[in-house]
Amino acid sequence: MTRKLPSALEHVHEIAIRGRQLAVFLDYDGTLTPIVNRPEKALLSDSMREAVRALAARVPVAILSGRDLDDVRQRVNIDAIAYAGCHGFDIAGPLGLRKQVATECLPILDAAEKELRQKLAGIPGELVDRKRFSVAAHYRNVDENHVERVERIVNEVAARHRELRKIENKKVYELQPDIDWNKGRALIWLLESLGLDRKEVFPIYIGDDRTDEDAFGAIRQRGAGILLSEQPRATGASYSLKNPSEVECFLRKLVACLPAGADS
Ligand SMILES: [Mg+2]
Repeated sequence: MTRKLPSALEHVHEIAIRGRQLAVFLDYDGTLTPIVNRPEKALLSDSMREAVRALAARVPVAILSGRDLDDVRQRVNIDAIAYAGCHGFDIAGPLGLRKQVATECLPILDAAEKELRQKLAGIPGELVDRKRFSVAAHYRNVDENHVERVERIVNEVAARHRELRKIENKKVYELQPDIDWNKGRALIWLLESLGLDRKEVFPIYIGDDRTDEDAFGAIRQRGAGILLSEQPRATGASYSLKNPSEVECFLRKLVACLPAGADS
């Protein structure tokens, strides 16, 4: 359903007092950092890091990203929180928390990566990015006239490897293991593994992209999704924010609203 969502900034207090305990799950690119032309340039600002750190000192926080686990962990650089990389396929956290999904698909991803690199090599601006549990074909810097060719090649490679599926995010096609796993499943797994799968826990998920819809859907009945979007779109989220600056503002206000003694 496409409708205008209420701004999370105007409902911070109401969100903060839902449930006796909050748990906050955050996407990285486009949520904690603005979208940039080259993915390696998406750096977390010091002030955003401080906002996330301050929140993590009060309530459980985890980051769920399409990036490789080590990549997102280094970029956020906050100890004592959980991270899910590769759209939730590769999870690690404090106290030995660890889960890897579909390791048997790694050789298939190796083969798909090789094929994509060969076939896409002639397209100016095309960037193939191998992550542990996916291969991404970024076309943000590809001329519009060539985008169709990129997609056709990705489709061909996907068709050759039935164990993989194509997913789409902002200006990127990605091949990942075609199994029943996504950011939503990873979020639920984190809730269970962190002892947060309880009625009094109110999970919040903030994200901007299509894969984030799986996470919005997973907590729709018991928590709140917050979508970053300039325009209304079909979403399972309940609230909206406009950009990463608003996310930072929201996180700071959320900490300020937490009732005394709510520390976990
Ligand atoms: Mg994102």
